[in-house]
Amino acid sequence: MDVIKLIAAGEVIDSLTAVVRELAENSLDAGAGRVVISVQPSLWRVQVADNGKGMDRDDLFLCTQAHTTSKIKDCGDLHRINTLGFRGEALHSIAQLADVKIVSRVADDCGYEICCHNNHCSTINPVAIAPGTIITVENLFKNIPLRRQANPPFKQQIKQIQTLIGQLSLCHPQVTWQLFVDDKLILYINGDNEIKKILSQLSKTIKYHDLTAQQITINTPEENGLSHLDLVLGLPDRLSRPRPDWVKIGLNGRVIKSPELESSIYSAFHRTLGRDRFPVIFLHLKTSPQQIDWNRHPAKAEIYLHNIDFWQEQIKSAINNIFKITDN
Ligand code: ADP
Ligand code: MG
Repeated sequence: MDVIKLIAAGEVIDSLTAVVRELAENSLDAGAGRVVISVQPSLWRVQVADNGKGMDRDDLFLCTQAHTTSKIKDCGDLHRINTLGFRGEALHSIAQLADVKIVSRVADDCGYEICCHNNHCSTINPVAIAPGTIITVENLFKNIPLRRQANPPFKQQIKQIQTLIGQLSLCHPQVTWQLFVDDKLILYINGDNEIKKILSQLSKTIKYHDLTAQQITINTPEENGLSHLDLVLGLPDRLSRPRPDWVKIGLNGRVIKSPELESSIYSAFHRTLGRDRFPVIFLHLKTSPQQIDWNRHPAKAEIYLHNIDFWQEQIKSAINNIFKITDN
């Protein structure tokens, strides 16, 4: 196998969770309203099925080739990215590391199937399938045993996948999610648009009625139109154990790590409520792609945000305003 390709692939795909992340993000980019994820950890197998727009025959052929994406056409598009994917790397990388079968259908054609084994893709055959896409990845890291060993026990990997799906569902509350592990349904999140419901389901520490949701519209700096700050937050009662791990930040559809933004959340809280109580918060900033550089981290989990001081101030004042309403 081509060593360079393996190294490049390793940057992004290092676990079953990474496969789920890349496939689920593709489903979201395809406009899916339902994403069904099935994992069989002992077989290093993941299947993601969606009812998104699907791929036609030509796209199906192209999608596993290196650096092929349907999401950007030129360098200018890099500054206008409003999809989760844009590098055109994930499917190609996964096909270097596992056996892959992709079945897909656009609404006005029949379905097609392509299989990739040992870095070689089959011819494309017609198949019967509802519109959408089903991607099955098997024998992940079959040629890199060390990568398997570097992963935590399966139980922990499943936890990571559950966390990931929870985070995606907060950012995309209109989507219904199902996670099966060894054919058993272990997570179901109904796509009913209610972030409060999802947040209380996932955090387990706070009831729906104790959460406050607000959407704030902000003028984006540098005349980049309007941004929106969706804020859902609440305080578990004083008796429940503080949970500093339930502060989540979403940016344009993906949960990210941002020490700068987290610190503004905590400082707004601590000023009002002292240091012994931890909020449950999901804050989703939806802003112009020009404000964001996703290339700080291969999995896009960390970012550079332009005008960080501006966003920190906006977040602090939004939280302060809400607490005038809720903390009485
Ligand atoms: P990227 O998401 O960065 O474009 P990927 O390697 O993840 O790169 O996917 C390559 C291409 O395959 C995408 O640009 C898209 O056109 C197509 N694709 C992948 N998954 C799906 C899906 N579930 N539904 C529709 N198209 C898909
Ligand atoms: Mg992608």
